[in-house]
Amino acid sequence: MKKFAVFGNPIAQSLSPTIHQMFAEQVGEKISYEKILAPVDGFVDAANAFLAQEGAVGCNVTMPFKLDAFNLAKVDDQAAKDAQAVNTLMNGDSGEVWGYNTDGVGLVNDLLNSGVEIKGKRVLLIGAGGAARGVISPLIKAGAASLTIANRTKAKAEEVVNAASNAKVQVVALEDIADVAPHIIINSTAASLSNELPCRLNDGVLQNCEVVYDMVYKNSPTRFMRDAAELGVKTQIDGLGMLVEQAAEAFYIWTQKRPDTSDIVKRVRAIVEQGEKR
Ligand code: NDP
Repeated sequence: MKKFAVFGNPIAQSLSPTIHQMFAEQVGEKISYEKILAPVDGFVDAANAFLAQEGAVGCNVTMPFKLDAFNLAKVDDQAAKDAQAVNTLMNGDSGEVWGYNTDGVGLVNDLLNSGVEIKGKRVLLIGAGGAARGVISPLIKAGAASLTIANRTKAKAEEVVNAASNAKVQVVALEDIADVAPHIIINSTAASLSNELPCRLNDGVLQNCEVVYDMVYKNSPTRFMRDAAELGVKTQIDGLGMLVEQAAEAFYIWTQKRPDTSDIVKRVRAIVEQGEKR
């Protein structure tokens, strides 16, 4: 049996085992996939111990260990290099451990599956944390005309833009986001977890906006999505599809089998809705 795991702290809430078991069942693989709570300063030892086990293929890595995983692994993946963050580890053929960041592919695939055209669009990305950094090169690769980053702490957005070193990637102050006239706004901040808005929406920034995307997912639309809808934005998408798609990309890296995610997104959404009602 192929062995997998997800490392985090906390980790109890993780849906990754459920999602990967759904993928495995669909493609006819028998896998074990466990949640592992690693001590905050003990990720590297815990991951190495897991990966040394007979049958261990790879593992996922979530907060706060994505930078530790980047430092542990050999990294060839551009998104992981940009993000300095790895969410997927895999045992290589010669004893090495490879690292990938599938968050950006997950976001792009979810947007495309939702019928959103990225090619030629001006994208405004709010936030400059690990999640933001991981999606930059996949969005540019998907053909975004420009990618402008705004963050509460502007210096962090400047750092991210300097590291990306691409003429299409720019920084803007949160007060000036209306100047971007974005077609797509992606909220990669944690603001929705506390029911806050990551930026003002009523100052003209939505004039050309076709889609808002919130990486956070809950059992109902976030305040960012609801306010954008009230102000006339036609499409609002939450991050549940991204969660499933980033997992699907990891599953593909490990097994070379690509699950069909459409039904699985629906099943996972039902679990999230039930879980939050309990
Ligand atoms: P980080 O801690 O690395 O970054 C957090 C970011 O959010 C920073 O830019 C921070 O700004 C900003 N922020 C936090 N609170 C607020 C607020 N109240 N108002 C405005 N900005 C705020 O976290 P990550 O980047 O790793 O994750 C961000 C979010 O994305 C999380 O909620 C996570 O759940 C979600 N996520 C979803 C995924 C999915 O698959 N759907 C995948 C990965 C992440 P500042 O720099 O000023 O502190």
